[in-house]
Amino acid sequence: MHLSAPYDPNNIFAKILRGEMPCLKVYEDAVCLAFLDIFPQAPGHTLVIPKHAATNILTLPTEAIGPYMASVQKVAHAVQKAFQAEGLTIFQFNGAAGGQTVFHLHVHIIPRMDGVSLKGHGQAGKADEDSLKTHQAAIMAAF
Ligand code: 5GP
Repeated sequence: MHLSAPYDPNNIFAKILRGEMPCLKVYEDAVCLAFLDIFPQAPGHTLVIPKHAATNILTLPTEAIGPYMASVQKVAHAVQKAFQAEGLTIFQFNGAAGGQTVFHLHVHIIPRMDGVSLKGHGQAGKADEDSLKTHQAAIMAAF
C-alpha cells in the first residue's frame, strides 16, 4: 500500500472502531481507541489508533496530531504502570514499504524489561484469550 493510497474503510481497525469487529479495549477518549494487539511482540503490546480515518501519519490532520499523541502518552503511562515496565518501546509504521500491515494509523506501545528481547514484528503468534484478558484488566486498572 502506497503512502498516498486512499483510506480503505474496510480495514480491520476501521471495523473495530465501528464496533463491527471485537477488540480488547483498554482505553477510549474523544480522539483515540486503545486495545491489545492479539499478536503481541511482548505481553502488554498495545495499539493506539486515532478515531480520525487516517491511513498513516502523513494523512492525519496536523491539528489532530497533538491531541492524539497526548492520548498515546496517557496510554503509555498506564501500560508502564500495569507491567512495572523498565522500558517502553513505541513505534509506528507508514506504508507497506515502511513495514505497515494495517492501513489505519496506529502507534504500538510495548512494555520492556531488561534483557528480555522482543519478538519480531509480524512474527508473533496469536496470544491466548485468558492472558490477553488479564493484561487488559491490568492496563485498565492503571489509568
Ligand atoms: P503494523 O504492521 O500495521 O504496524 O501493525 C499492525 C498490528 O496489528 C500488528 O502488530 C498486528 O499484530 C495487529 N493486528 C492485526 N490484526 C489484528 C486484529 O484483528 N486485532 C488486533 N487487536 N490486532 C491486530
